[in-house]
Amino acid sequence: MQQFLYHVSEYDETLIYQAIDNILTGMNILSDLTPDMKIVLKPNLVMAKKPDVPVTTHPMVVKAVARWLYEHDRRHITIAESSGGPYTSEHMKSVYQICGMYDAAPYADLNMNFGFQSVHTPEGFVNGSFNLILPVIDADYIINLPKLKTHAMTGYSGGIKNLFGCVPGLQKPQLHYRFPDIENFSNMLLELALTVRPQITILDAIDAMEGNGPTGGTSHPLHLLLASRDMYTQDAFAAQLMGLHPSDIVMLRQAKERGLIHTEQMELIGDAVPQDLTPFLKPDTADLDFSSKVPSFLQKPFSAVMKRVLKSYPKLEPEKCIGCGKCAESCPAHIITIKDKKARFHRKGCISCFCCQEMCPMKAIAVKKAI
Ligand code: SF4
Ligand code: SF4
Repeated sequence: MQQFLYHVSEYDETLIYQAIDNILTGMNILSDLTPDMKIVLKPNLVMAKKPDVPVTTHPMVVKAVARWLYEHDRRHITIAESSGGPYTSEHMKSVYQICGMYDAAPYADLNMNFGFQSVHTPEGFVNGSFNLILPVIDADYIINLPKLKTHAMTGYSGGIKNLFGCVPGLQKPQLHYRFPDIENFSNMLLELALTVRPQITILDAIDAMEGNGPTGGTSHPLHLLLASRDMYTQDAFAAQLMGLHPSDIVMLRQAKERGLIHTEQMELIGDAVPQDLTPFLKPDTADLDFSSKVPSFLQKPFSAVMKRVLKSYPKLEPEKCIGCGKCAESCPAHIITIKDKKARFHRKGCISCFCCQEMCPMKAIAVKKAI
């Protein structure tokens, strides 16, 4: 399967549009689309953050895709996403505004229909059905526009993980609560990806995030746009570019086991892979993995013990906390309270999902190991 890779030195409208033109022309996307088809662009707008920090998909990337389609007479285009926090008009208007999505407005509508509907999923997974936001259900064609990041819970965030934003608002923490274990959570993410089935994925890695992603990390530019019709292989490829081993990322290991990743058959189109890449910092939650050093007959008990010993918990940095309550709102275990304008965490019941850290606008939540 073809993987497109283009160097884009900075967030510059002309450079990005040129790369998007190369990608969409190279993919022959117009042969997929008739002018009356409903197209959804699904960026990562996890929280209301300005585009100069690498938390959300940059508006210039979203705009370039919308503009290209519009100029090729594909004009039924909607930008749709469900951020963290409530899936309401008030909340999403603020997210659109701060994330710069109104820049794409000449070419695409911003979704204002905040309904959802239940959809059955393929056999052989853990959830059975998902509530999905309506524009995604109604779409004839979905273009997935993730941001490349490390992630405190899943280790890596790209195309597959971006589709978690098709689940409405505060139903996302509920899924964290139902699937607190990383194996089941990753299985659920794959199930969701195979339900949504975006036709193409264009990954914004012009600037990317390392460390405590998906919202509390720091910039690590790759100066790249990646694109493919094969999102799973693309995620494995992008993880390698970050210096991660796809087999260490549970959702990518599972995708490989399910026959979804074919890096050996990858045909690279566009520019050469940069030679000066440096490994991404991992999140503070990343466990030290000694398991490969342990004999196979001891792996199961060893891993159960080590999971307990190495478990991470959120830890408040009180001087940064403004008492906004966004962490409490997103905590699926309901173990955060706000007292005297500061968050308080009750460890009992914590499932270490780090939704709280993800939604904290002040980077006030650090990571503490169990021992
Ligand atoms: S920890 Fe962060 S999200 Fe929670 S109340 Fe404090 S500032 Fe808000
Ligand atoms: S306190 Fe944070 S890490 Fe623990 S369950 Fe709540 S949101 Fe998840």
